[in-house]
Amino acid sequence: MENTGTNLGKGSVKRLTVVSLLVIVSGALAILILVVLLNQGIRTEQRNECLNSLQQIDSALMATALERGYRNGDSIPTAQLVESLKDNKIPSCPSGGSYVIPPVGGHPTCTFHGDLLAREGKLAASRSSIVQTGAVSNK
Ligand SMILES: [Zn+2]
Repeated sequence: MENTGTNLGKGSVKRLTVVSLLVIVSGALAILILVVLLNQGIRTEQRNECLNSLQQIDSALMATALERGYRNGDSIPTAQLVESLKDNKIPSCPSGGSYVIPPVGGHPTCTFHGDLLAREGKLAASRSSIVQTGAVSNK
């Protein structure tokens, strides 16, 4: 009687160990998948925020060029550019990149995300007309 009881007990312990191993492994996998998905979500969010900032800078570039009569290839001083930006400052990339602001006619890029505006097809359609009408001169 004692032997039988002990044997059954050992079998149960082994089965229990296998089951708990499975539970631990699948739990770890689930956590891993969650972390990866969360990371992707954060990255997508930061990328969208960066794209939004690049669009704001691009619009500010064109607006300043038009208002002050800058022509294609002219560099716009940051002090003038920020007047058309929210909080009068150049936004920052949430992923730590810096924005490269080109002369009039170009579009800004991010050192972390690259040329998001061109890649996403978000270059303003009015770009060419603004650059061409930049002849109004009151720099
Ligand atoms: Zn960026």
